Formats: sequence, C-alpha cells, structure tokens
Amino acid sequence: MFFVVGVLTACNTVSVEDVASVTITPKVANVSTPTPVLSARIDLAEDLYAREVQAGVFVITHAFPWPGNSMLVEMADGTLVLVDTPYTPEATQTVLEWAEKQLGKRDIVAINTGYHYDNLGGNVYLLEQGIPIYGSDLTGQLLAERGDALRAMTLDWLKAPKDKAYYDAHQTLPYVAPDHPFPLDEGLQLTFGDETVEVYYPGLSHTPDNVVVYFPGRKLLFGGCMLIGGDSVGNTADADMKAWPESVRNLARFDVDVVIPGHGERLDPQLIEHTVELISRQ
Ligand SMILES: [Zn+2]
Repeated sequence: MFFVVGVLTACNTVSVEDVASVTITPKVANVSTPTPVLSARIDLAEDLYAREVQAGVFVITHAFPWPGNSMLVEMADGTLVLVDTPYTPEATQTVLEWAEKQLGKRDIVAINTGYHYDNLGGNVYLLEQGIPIYGSDLTGQLLAERGDALRAMTLDWLKAPKDKAYYDAHQTLPYVAPDHPFPLDEGLQLTFGDETVEVYYPGLSHTPDNVVVYFPGRKLLFGGCMLIGGDSVGNTADADMKAWPESVRNLARFDVDVVIPGHGERLDPQLIEHTVELISRQ
C-alpha cells in the first residue's frame, strides 16, 4: 500500500544499544538494503553519547532531559557537517572537542533543521567558534516570533523539583538563529569535494519550518523532528497534524538505507512509514 517501492526496501534487522535486535517484516520481497547497525555508545558526558552508524557518521544523543538526536558526518573532503546540535552550548562544545581529539582540527559546517532548541540550542557556541550555521529564513523568523512562548511552555514541563537543574538551564538557554539563512522553499545544496548535501523542505509537519538533510552518497537521511523514532508523538504545539503525513510521504523522493529521527532509536527506512501511520492515527 505504501507510496514508493524503490525507497522502502527490505530491512531485516536493526541493532540498537541495549536491544539485541528488532526484526522488521520486509515490505518488498527479495530486495535487501544494508542493515543500519550502531556502534557501542561512546560516552562524552553523563547525558551525552555518540554512536557510529556508517564510517564517519555519528549519531549524537543528548538527554536534556528528553533524549534528542543530532548528527556529525565526516565528508569526502574532511569537513565535518553537524546537523542540528545537542540542547546546550556546553554539550555542543563537548561533541566538537571530542571530534577534534578523534579526527584532528577540521573545518565544520552546521545545519539547523528547525527552530526548536533541540535543533539549535548549541548555536551560540558554534558562532563563537566561527562555524557557519545554515538554516531556513523561516527558522530565524519563528525563533523571533515564538521563542518566548516555546521557552515558557518548556519551563512549564520542568516545574517538578527533580527537574530544577534543567529548569534553570532552559531558563537561560540562548536561542540564536542560524547566520546563513536560505529560502525555505528553495532548500539548499552544499558541496564538499565530490560529495553533496541536500537540505529539503517537505512541507508542514512537526513545525512549519522543519527541513530534512540528505547525503546522497551515503543514502543517509537526517529526518529530524518530523520523523518519529518511537511511539510517542511528543511536542505538537507547532505541528500541522493534517499536513504532516503528506509531508513525510514527500521523503519518498530519497533513496535511503539509514534514516535518523530527531528522537528515538529506530534508524531503518521503514521509520518513514511508521511516522505516517503514527501521525495519521492521532
Ligand atoms: Zn524535537
């Protein structure tokens, strides 16, 4: 029943930290794609860790307090592309210092996939380091228009005494817009040696401005918060629930082996269909 046969090919097993394996029924017989397998956790701080999912592709997970994913990719020319940031400037600094220790000093380019702080909470550190940050023009606009409301809502979720440290941090977390805006509807293409990165706007979803980032040479798609890797839809305050499934269907244009959601453990291509079904049920 699904929309594009070529993209949603079979994916038999997903190995995930602390979960031995998850078997997924193949949608298409006799077609196999490489199975996304994550390395063991590389602990960077108490609530921050990296896992390698392809050579030079690290999923970074930060729980602050809700676990969220960003991604660091070593491109063909040696540049590091950081897609989204951990929640805070401090965690972002930790990730980049770890990367420099592992890989040596590199040029870094950052991309924000939306205006929520789990996409760009580390921006102030990136700008201090002179790292260019690409994001849509709408991301900057929404940050200015809705940032205060987002912060107030977040603080409301963190009122319990056990969350005091998070409350305090979110109260002062700097919301800083990307300094290299691009027109949302046009998206963006960046080139690193012989490797390209495509930033694409699939339509309204979890927020009005969520974009996805595609690495064609790796069949790797960072779907961010418009893709849901678990069974909980999460924060829908900015969501267009009606348009969201159709926007996710637009991702069928990408040939993918690995799909990274903003939150959650699943990294298999069927995550796209999972999100359509989950949102359509709401
Ligand atoms: Zn999110």
